[in-house]
Amino acid sequence: MSQPRALELDGVRKDYGTVPAVATLDLHLDEGEVLALVGPSGCGKSTLLRLIAGLEEPDAGTVRIAGRPVAGDGVWRAPERRDVGIVFQDHALFPHLTVAENVAFGLTGLSGGRRRERVAEALAMIAMERLADRYPHELSGGEQQRVALTRALAPRPELLLLDEPFSNLDRHLRTQIRADTMELLRKTGTPAVFVTHDQAEALAVGDRVAVMRAGRIEQLGAPEPVFHTPANRFVATFMGDADFLPAELTGDTLVTEAGSVRAPDDVVGRVDPLEVMVRPHEVVLRPGENGTARVVGTEFQGGFILHTVMLHSGRRLRSLQPHTTHYPIGTRLHAELSYGHPPAVLPGQDAGRAGDAAPDATNGYRTEPARQG
Ligand code: ADP
Ligand code: MG
Repeated sequence: MSQPRALELDGVRKDYGTVPAVATLDLHLDEGEVLALVGPSGCGKSTLLRLIAGLEEPDAGTVRIAGRPVAGDGVWRAPERRDVGIVFQDHALFPHLTVAENVAFGLTGLSGGRRRERVAEALAMIAMERLADRYPHELSGGEQQRVALTRALAPRPELLLLDEPFSNLDRHLRTQIRADTMELLRKTGTPAVFVTHDQAEALAVGDRVAVMRAGRIEQLGAPEPVFHTPANRFVATFMGDADFLPAELTGDTLVTEAGSVRAPDDVVGRVDPLEVMVRPHEVVLRPGENGTARVVGTEFQGGFILHTVMLHSGRRLRSLQPHTTHYPIGTRLHAELSYGHPPAVLPGQDAGRAGDAAPDATNGYRTEPARQG
């Protein structure tokens, strides 16, 4: 057999009372791979991590880490014997231990000298040597989180689990620590499951992204296909701003009221009502008195201005324009689809009016689901 996988979940399930926190679920992770696990608050992300870490026992299914069974089929390996590092949102450093002592904590079974070496080495990796003798309360939130990361990686675990590790940090710091963390994971070749409720973060860190809802994985794939061709409306709207337009299939062309696009091969021949997903960066605006669309809203976003336009049918599309382009409300214009890739085609609203996906009274324009967790 080839190299064992870093992680294998087979039919893993966990119920709390009658609520399946994690429904029967399969998942694997290759060596050195980073999986971003993203989904709204309460969808089961932390429960899944806790099942992997051994902080919860599955009701069904098996867990293997680096080829070794750790849970299920009568096997149970305690968390401290799973060779897994964990970083939580609230770093949980030992307050009465210095930075160096915190990092040394998990380094059991080494001589004093080897231990000191490993601590120094680990702190150097993340440029924290100068803080070795400080106590946690003498560190900023960002520094505390770096220590937590160092402590988790020092024993050289088979797998690192991160549960919304940087959610408490401000945006600037978060971006920087995230980049450092990813560099460290690449350098050490440590496979990781990175949990976040932030879709942008998931797209940025994951070799693959798993989008979770209500205990299930709705879609699993590389960031680009998850963003560009979401499997359903939930994934479409959770992973970015999305509008939907009815599309009529004529041969291999999808005709919408904002222009025609080439249909993906697997869509050609379908007879059910279809809609294309449109993200704001995929709508081109061209002013013109005979335009059938009209600007009904603008929002300044710094580098960009988000325009909302109403089409002839009354449907709305959002269009992201560079800050140099600002069409005032009321401007007549042409709104046209401009994809750099085959569009995502989803079943039309009329096909099966799924409750979660019904457009609101503003004719197909949807507000975003809550993304805070
Ligand atoms: P997430 O991390 O995605 O926000 P969680 O895994 O924490 O979600 O929770 C998933 C579901 O399981 C939620 O409905 C939550 O209320 C429930 N849950 C989590 N932990 C427990 C617990 N110890 N006892 C009962 N219910 C729980
Ligand atoms: Mg959680």
